[in-house]
Amino acid sequence: MLITDAHTHRKYTDGCSGFVRNAFLPRTETLNRINYFVSAGLHPWYIDNNWAGAYSGLLDVVQHPRVVAIGECGLDYFHGPDKAVQWHVFEAHLALAQQLKLPVIVHLVRAIHDLIPFIKSRPNTLVLHDYRGTEEETKKLLDYDVYFSMGRSYVKNINRSARFIPANRLLTESDTGKISVQDVLTKLNTELPEQGGIAQLNEQITKNFFNVYPKIKS
Ligand SMILES: [Zn+2]
Repeated sequence: MLITDAHTHRKYTDGCSGFVRNAFLPRTETLNRINYFVSAGLHPWYIDNNWAGAYSGLLDVVQHPRVVAIGECGLDYFHGPDKAVQWHVFEAHLALAQQLKLPVIVHLVRAIHDLIPFIKSRPNTLVLHDYRGTEEETKKLLDYDVYFSMGRSYVKNINRSARFIPANRLLTESDTGKISVQDVLTKLNTELPEQGGIAQLNEQITKNFFNVYPKIKS
């Protein structure tokens, strides 16, 4: 069975046929050498007022065929720097993604309420990683080109439910690797038995994965 990992910090050598590894700011020499796909971007934990230098490094690599998404980037009101800096950096990433027609892997902590104005001005395909929104938040987001990537919080019951998310908007992720994609699929299958079992659910999620990351050919 083909299993996909929409956002991970590990490098699979087996057990996963499609994955997007978070590379932060990869170097061109590294990208030329690897045989897998990455996302590139400035994580809100690692930005400060001097983000412009790192951002210009990002511009050097984002058009590489191995870079299939911008991110993870986003808003973190718990750990991140000043909100104004975060908004500025996030907006720069969204503008870049829009220009390159790349999806954006979004990190959101206590900031989901601030996302919609950004989406309205920059209508990119978004992957909301480690999604943990409420039913109400999820329903609002369904109006946009947003995918909900279920991972650690979902498996550990930190977020609410996948019940309000249509199957064609679901993704699975391992992120930093404390859980596996199989764990996520198992839980989704328990919660969404009407999807016809793990194999059928995974088939839909795999289809979503290739829709989100068109630079990866299925
Ligand atoms: Zn991550």
